[in-house]
Amino acid sequence: MEFFDVGSAKKTDIKDRYDVIIIGGGPGGITAAIYAVQAGLKPLIIEKALDGGQMNNTQAVENWSGFSSISGMDLSEKMADHARAFDVPFAYNEVVDVELEGQEKAVILDNGKKLNSRVLIISTGSNPRDLGAKGEEQFKGKGISYCATCDGHFFADKHIAVIGGGNSALDESLYLSKMVRKITVVQNLAKLTADKLLQDKLNATGKVEYIYNSVVDSVEGDSQLSAISIRNVDSGNITRLPVEGMFVFIGLIPNSGFLKGKLKLNDFGYVPTDENMETEIEGIYAVGDVREKEVRQIVTAAADGAIAIYHAARSYFDE
Ligand SMILES: Cc1cc2nc3c(=O)[nH]c(=O)nc-3n(C[C@H](O)[C@H](O)[C@H](O)COP(=O)(O)OP(=O)(O)OC[C@H]3O[C@@H](n4cnc5c(N)ncnc54)[C@H](O)[C@@H]3O)c2cc1C
Repeated sequence: MEFFDVGSAKKTDIKDRYDVIIIGGGPGGITAAIYAVQAGLKPLIIEKALDGGQMNNTQAVENWSGFSSISGMDLSEKMADHARAFDVPFAYNEVVDVELEGQEKAVILDNGKKLNSRVLIISTGSNPRDLGAKGEEQFKGKGISYCATCDGHFFADKHIAVIGGGNSALDESLYLSKMVRKITVVQNLAKLTADKLLQDKLNATGKVEYIYNSVVDSVEGDSQLSAISIRNVDSGNITRLPVEGMFVFIGLIPNSGFLKGKLKLNDFGYVPTDENMETEIEGIYAVGDVREKEVRQIVTAAADGAIAIYHAARSYFDE
């Protein structure tokens, strides 16, 4: 028995071996842990930062059934409390390496400790790619958003900027066009890279204008974002654009770096799985945002976690 402590007030009694080790304590990982307990298995969640993962970044979650509106932090706490009520242990460490050969899998923690399990669930999520513009950190959640489904309704009848010209930027713009007054799409290239059909649909809304060959240099405001400064990449000229919101869709970064060379990742770093959430290696599952899929939301991460455990329990523990 050993205590792990990475500065969190919480300490957990950790053993060397579990039935299921879950890397990442977001909604995917927590749901997997709850289902594991219900299947009679002993899970461990290893979380390097905060219980609840990316949910902590959203002011109000309004699409998780049971709550018409709940802050992301409250939902995170409720999910983690649910797992703790089922005696799920949490270790507050980063997984820096894995050993995936053979029946017994291993994770190596940032303190050098090695833990073993028969089944591994990778639920390390992703992070939206930042712009790197001056002032971006200050206005995150105060006019800058990275999720249209989550935050779009806060911008009803407002003029917003959408940064990015690929499929996800235009898809999200189409969704936002139902509520906002005007959208200025800022694209770093000379043309959009999104599908033509999507471009046509967005243009048909009559709410969109485009600024090409441009990147966001800085953002400004008082308590809320009120303008962005756009730099033309050819001329270097800076134009100030007053907007009431800015949505950034320049890609996500999956937290899969520690898996490189150990497990197949796609070109973007996501983990491919079959429909049971199992990866190319038996007993290794990937769930939630880190998985190769289209819809990255709390409910889909949770669903992935449930599906993975359902199949893992039957494949590897049903004697
Ligand atoms: C601003 C914002 C608002 C959003 N709002 C909504 C919303 O309203 N509704 C909705 O459905 N979805 C929303 N989403 C999307 C939703 O949060 C994600 O789809 C969901 O959290 C993904 O869950 P996950 O369990 O796959 O991963 P995550 O929530 O990303 O959790 C992964 C966890 O793994 C941990 N981790 C990563 N690497 C390691 C490692 N090596 N070792 C140990 N731990 C590790 C991370 O610290 C993190 O806690 C929003 C996202 C953002 C960014």
